Amino acid sequence: MYPDSFDYYRPDSVEEALELLDEHAMDNPAVLSGGHSLVPTIKSGLASPGVIVDIGEIDDITGVEENGDHVHVGACTRYSDVVGDAIVEEHVPGLAEATGEIGDTQVRNRGTVGGNIAHADPASDLPAVVVATDATIHAQGPDGSRELAADDFFLSVYMTSLGPDEILTGIDFPKLDDGVAAYEKKPSPSSGYAMVGVAVRLEFDGDTVSKAGIAANGALDRAVRLEGAEQELEGSEPTPAVVSAAAEAATDGIDTDEMMDDIQADGAYRAQLLESYTGRALEKAVDRR
Ligand SMILES: Cc1cc2nc3c(=O)[nH]c(=O)nc-3n(C[C@H](O)[C@H](O)[C@H](O)COP(=O)(O)OP(=O)(O)OC[C@H]3O[C@@H](n4cnc5c(N)ncnc54)[C@H](O)[C@@H]3O)c2cc1C
Repeated sequence: MYPDSFDYYRPDSVEEALELLDEHAMDNPAVLSGGHSLVPTIKSGLASPGVIVDIGEIDDITGVEENGDHVHVGACTRYSDVVGDAIVEEHVPGLAEATGEIGDTQVRNRGTVGGNIAHADPASDLPAVVVATDATIHAQGPDGSRELAADDFFLSVYMTSLGPDEILTGIDFPKLDDGVAAYEKKPSPSSGYAMVGVAVRLEFDGDTVSKAGIAANGALDRAVRLEGAEQELEGSEPTPAVVSAAAEAATDGIDTDEMMDDIQADGAYRAQLLESYTGRALEKAVDRR
């Protein structure tokens, strides 16, 4: 399908991009980063922006930087520049692993970390990593910059707490020093997206888990923190019995009616997947200790 015509701009700075969004506010403008979700949406007729503001070449919001106790990933950093990056591998291993699971080589060469998070597809791989790691999201808009906590960011299918006139500029991922991380997903047989994907980050004090971050994609309409599983682990040694109890607790507090229900998996099956993939991710993480 041919898209409706649109005007295309490629600004060199976030400020210029924000001015363009403001100037063309009446033309249903869209920000384009990697284009691997926006372009298919336009081609299928589900979106019809009058103006595209392509931020994908803005250097200031591209790249990985170690910064004190966190790693900053610029919004327009492509997946292929995250996978295998020495800083990410060492300090945010869960992000490296989940990013390596996204799509195929072409998708990883074009898609961006910021685009993945701003798009907020419940079946995407990175939102759970953002929640499990307690990352901080940076946004810039007409009223300046602000920081958003991971737990408050993902609202529903394709909905975040970003304003329509804001640009996600980067994400701060806390460094994992004494700990382990893992990501496990059940890929959709047709698309490879996550039917369920679980991100785990465990910090240790000796042999005891001092802090557990566990979150899932694909289960609900948004990335969700699995508080029941976290509570089973915190303050305990992650023995097989504790890991098994944590996996069973993955669905605690989640209403089965809230589970995603589509032609690939109904809510009850997704609940099973959630417990089973929480167990797999935890076992994988603990084996890395
Ligand atoms: C064949 C195929 C397979 C895929 N498989 C997977 C998979 O297995 N796992 C997975 O997670 N994803 C998968 N994807 C999606 C892919 O990861 C996309 O790259 C991602 O969802 C969006 O990132 P992007 O940079 O391409 O964003 P774009 O497509 O450019 O933008 C997506 C949306 O986010 C908005 N946006 C983008 N950047 C910003 C920003 N900085 N600030 C504000 N708004 C912004 C855009 O306006 C648009 O609404 C797949 C895509 C394809 C085509």
